[in-house]
Formats: sequence, C-alpha cells, structure tokens
Amino acid sequence: MSFPVSDAAFAISPLTAEFRDRTVEAHFSHHLLPQSKAQLRMTVMFCASCFVLFGITDVMSLGWNETTMLLVACRILVFFIAAAGCVVNYLHPHSVGKAYLTASVTEIICLLAFALAVVSRPAELPWHAMAMSIMVLVIYLYIPNRLIYAIAIAIVSTIVFVIVALILDRLKGEEMLTMTMLLTLANGFGCIAARRYSLIRREEFRVQSVLKNLSERDPLTGCHNRRYLQQELLNMELSRARRFRLSLAVIVCDIDYFKSVNDNYGHPAGDRVLVAFANMMRGMIRENVDSLIRFGGEEFLLVLPETDLAGGMHLAERMRAALSAMSTQVAPGEHVGVTASFGVTAVNFATVSARFPQEALIELADQLLYAAKNGGRNTVRALDFHGRQGVHAPRRIGNGTTS
Ligand code: GH3
Ligand code: MG
Ligand code: MG
Repeated sequence: MSFPVSDAAFAISPLTAEFRDRTVEAHFSHHLLPQSKAQLRMTVMFCASCFVLFGITDVMSLGWNETTMLLVACRILVFFIAAAGCVVNYLHPHSVGKAYLTASVTEIICLLAFALAVVSRPAELPWHAMAMSIMVLVIYLYIPNRLIYAIAIAIVSTIVFVIVALILDRLKGEEMLTMTMLLTLANGFGCIAARRYSLIRREEFRVQSVLKNLSERDPLTGCHNRRYLQQELLNMELSRARRFRLSLAVIVCDIDYFKSVNDNYGHPAGDRVLVAFANMMRGMIRENVDSLIRFGGEEFLLVLPETDLAGGMHLAERMRAALSAMSTQVAPGEHVGVTASFGVTAVNFATVSARFPQEALIELADQLLYAAKNGGRNTVRALDFHGRQGVHAPRRIGNGTTS
C-alpha cells in the first residue's frame, strides 16, 4: 500500500459511507479482502444451511406434496448458489467486485425462494415476518457487502414482503401495521449499525495508513525513508525485475559541500535547499513507478524499475544539470545554488541470474557516487551491475566531461 496520505484523501461520502476517493476506497477494500472473503464464505454457507434446514417446516406445514418438493428444491438451489459463490471467490481471491456480486446474488435468490415459501404457507405470515426481520439484519450486518447494495436489497425485499402480505390478506389492520412498523425498525437499526461499522472500519484504516505513512516517509522532504527502502521497496522491485527478467536502475546522489550551506546560511536555509532538491527530482521521475528515498542527511536514492543503465544515466545527468542551473531562495533576496554528485548502476535480469544481496546494488551505486566526488563533484558516474562488483572502470559523464 502506497498512496498520498492527506485528510482530503480520507473524506467519506455520507451517502455511501465509503471513501470519496475511489483509489483510497480500492486500497481499503483490498486491505480487508481476505477477511471479508472468509467472513462471506462462513456466513453465506451457514445461512444457506439454515435455509435448507427450514425445509423441515415446509414438510410439517404442507405434508409431502408437489409444493413441498418445489420449496425444498428451491432451498437446495439456494445452497448450491451459495456454494458456487464461494467457489467463484476462491478462484478470484483478489476480486472485490466478485465478492459483492456473489453476496448480492445469493441474497436475492434466497429472498425469492423465501417469497415462494411465504406464498405457499400464508397461514404462518407472522412467523414469516419474524424470519424476514432476521434476514434483513443478516443482510445489513453479517454478509459483507457494500452498504448501498445492502440497503437496496433489504428495503426492496421488505417492501415486496409487505405487498405480498397485503395481497394474502391474512392479518387484521392493526396486525399489518405492527408488522410493517417492526420491519421498518429492523431496517432502520440494521442500516444504522451497518453504517457505523462501515465508518469504524474506515477510520481504523485511515489511522493505520497515516501511521504507516509516518513510519515510511521522511517528514522534511516527504520522500520515502531508508527503512521503507530496505524493508519493502528494494526487495519488492528486485523480485519483480528478476521474475520478469527486466532491468532495474538505482541512482545515489549527494549534494556537494552541503555543510558549507549550513555553515554560511544556517540550518533552516539548508533544509530549504534539501526540500527544493527533492521536489525537483520528484518532478522528473515517473509517478507511481519510480521511487525517491532520502537515504541520509543530504543523500538521496532513486529506484527506477524497467530502466537500464543508459536510462538511469540520462535521468541522473538531467537532474545534475537542472540542480546546477537552479537556485533556492533561502531568505528574502538571498538565493543559494548547489550542485550534486551522482552514482548510477543498473542490473539487467535478462542476463544476470546470480543471486546477490540487495545491499550490493546500493553499495556499487554508493562507490560510484564517491568516485564522482573524488572526480571533482557535480558529475555522474555509472557502471552496470553484473551480480559482482568492480568489473569495469566506471563511465563518467557530467560537468562537461563524458567518457
Ligand atoms: P561532500 O561534497 O563531500 O558531500 O561534502 P558535504 O559538506 O556535503 O558533506 P558532509 O557529509 O561533510 O556534510 C553533510 C552535511 O549535511 C552535514 C549535516 O549537518 C548536513 N545535514 C544533514 N542532514 C541535514 C538536514 O536535515 N538539514 C540540514 N540543513 N542539514 C543537514
Ligand atoms: Mg554532501
Ligand atoms: Mg552526505
């Protein structure tokens, strides 16, 4: 999970009780998916089993005739549809849409079968009303679904039930009113509880995301931090590149003589220069593809998936040139210009099959950075990574020199 965390991103729509931002809502749904699918499986199969078991009451009420057989067949059909829904969810473990679809379809078919039982056994209407209340609560609270789908299914089925009760004409006026009011209450309470649950889960997700973001990002520049690089990012990108036999480039860069910026203009001025440098680099990389990490004080690291050495060198050179051409306002009328040195390496998994520790790639980029420093600073040094280090002399570009 990685997306910009801001209060606006977590705004909730009062109508749907979901995040307004569809990306955040998608992250939330996927985050909950394993839990939701397990809950869906268990609840749907439990409800379908109970629904089949209630076939006994059909037999006791109607005896064994054609109507009973039809009702029992419908109950068994509901069970198989519930089981088929579980199979669909098992085959599509990452699909949120299929979880909602199977939940809704199972509920609707179960309610249709229930309507048939109500029409076939009209004398037991008050008991059917009680069953309807329980089903409404199950729809709101137990079967994981979008709140708006649950509301639509519960309300429409309640209205249909009341209309059927009116047509069957088995209740006195006051009984009919009591039943309708009780069903309305079941819907009201169910809806309020489901809405609360939905909001609480999203608030939990918001807090978790904010904390995760704080633990993964540098507060000054907003870049990812070293912990995120070492514990998640690099491993993930290396595995992906290895699996698909792609190239992965890494750039390490460090501002030249940064200490003198702090010494001459003060620490807050140094901070401004750091932020400006980070923003400039962020503006040059591919959003949601490349990653910018604050590796140390004034040292940054870029991870560039599907990028070869030439691509990494090109980007580093553009960044070097842009930084040396820009200046940062650190006080009214006071501008500071700095340069930076860059070390670039890339591994091509189409040719490299050897296993190596993830640190080896960064170590080589770091060595290249220090070669750039020793070579006069404000330069780019680059070298392919072959799974072991120090095979060729690094290529040097920038600061007017290319070799
Ligand atoms: P070189 O060209 O060899 O990299 O020289 P340098 O002066 O940049 O390197 P050095 O490692 O001597 O100094 C790094 C400085 O960066 C020292 C430290 O005070 C400063 N620094 C580290 N983190 C921050 C920060 O968050 N804000 C500010 N303003 N300065 C920082
Ligand atoms: Mg430095
Ligand atoms: Mg440094």
